[in-house]
Amino acid sequence: MKILVINCGSSSLKYQLFEMDNEKVLAKGIVERIGINGSVLTHKVGSEKFIKETPMNNHTDAIKYVIEALVDKEHGVISHLSEINAVGHRVVHGGERYSKSAIVNDEVLSDLEDLSKLAPLHNPANIIGIKACRELMPNVPMVIVFDTSFHQTMPKNAYMYAIPYEIYEKYGVRKYGFHGTSHDYVAHKAAEFLGKNIEDLKIITCHLGNGSSLCAVDGGKSIDTSMGFTPLEGIAMGTRSGDIDPAVIPFLVKETGKDIDEILNILNKQSGVLGLSGVSSDFRDIEAAKDEGNERAKLALEVFCYRVKKYIGAYIAALGGIDVIVFTAGVGENGPYTRKECCRGLEFLGIKLDDELNKVRGELKEISTEDSKVKVLVVPTDEELMIARDTKALTS
Ligand code: AMP
Repeated sequence: MKILVINCGSSSLKYQLFEMDNEKVLAKGIVERIGINGSVLTHKVGSEKFIKETPMNNHTDAIKYVIEALVDKEHGVISHLSEINAVGHRVVHGGERYSKSAIVNDEVLSDLEDLSKLAPLHNPANIIGIKACRELMPNVPMVIVFDTSFHQTMPKNAYMYAIPYEIYEKYGVRKYGFHGTSHDYVAHKAAEFLGKNIEDLKIITCHLGNGSSLCAVDGGKSIDTSMGFTPLEGIAMGTRSGDIDPAVIPFLVKETGKDIDEILNILNKQSGVLGLSGVSSDFRDIEAAKDEGNERAKLALEVFCYRVKKYIGAYIAALGGIDVIVFTAGVGENGPYTRKECCRGLEFLGIKLDDELNKVRGELKEISTEDSKVKVLVVPTDEELMIARDTKALTS
């Protein structure tokens, strides 16, 4: 069974084609600058790379070129479109309606349009991608996997904000949480690696990338997570502020003369470690600047790691204990310095990193000492595989 996984942004589209019999990636790629000058498709088969630069006015064009690349005589991996048995789409927001993945039909698409007001920066692009695929592959079953679904098991005391209850009822303002596919995948992978039943484990998953969030996973279920109504809440991120007193927003509107959208843009795009360091949103650049004595780069990393540590502490309390901490995503998988700083001072809780083992990058590995009560693991995430698995389960 072959499954195409699509992750559509407003001007980009990532894809992977899986052979599900052995869960191997046959080909993957990215289309960038859709609808902008300089559209380009980068298609990879193993270590071979094929680049096509051609105007692409919209996502339908982009998907046409993806299909063309997949069936191409030289760089292709299938001989005909009909070999694709199903398509899995990543969608950011499923609201309270979707606690599981769903098969695409007209009703689900109309629900998604409604949910766009909860994720105006993400859902509309996801919908465009689904519609374009349906146009080009009308008879292929499609599945949506939501970033929010995994967190629908959070208890009400964790997801409610302490604001008038009617605001929740009328407008759906509550914590939803994101990166669910990743937290779900790495928590299960960690249990499998340790040879334990996930139902017996209390796990904190730290997805630290450009966007970052933590999740408290009790017996395989999310009971709390750091992102909120939007991905802006939680720990500091590459360019997002994370938690901030909401009163700062009207204060800045008054003081700077900027409107609310401009202030939100600052909190989403110019804050986090980029805003603090003034160097970059990329942790490699910030670490290099810190090593050269840049004080603000040092501060940015300190703020980031301190916040991760605070959430770890909070989630140990929420879980009533802790068995495993998992680091994943770009920084979590590749950043020994960050992992060490996030765990520094937590030895009293039985969390001890082994400096030698912690040098690992991008590999599934235990990085805690033998006498550490809590297992600390690096687990590379694979959201696409998780989407492909759900797609297979719902369509076979
Ligand atoms: P992601 O959003 O999961 O793709 O993660 C992207 C982030 O991973 C970038 O901001 C990089 O800073 C970070 N990253 C990638 N490689 C390394 C590395 N070797 N050391 C530290 N951070 C890294």
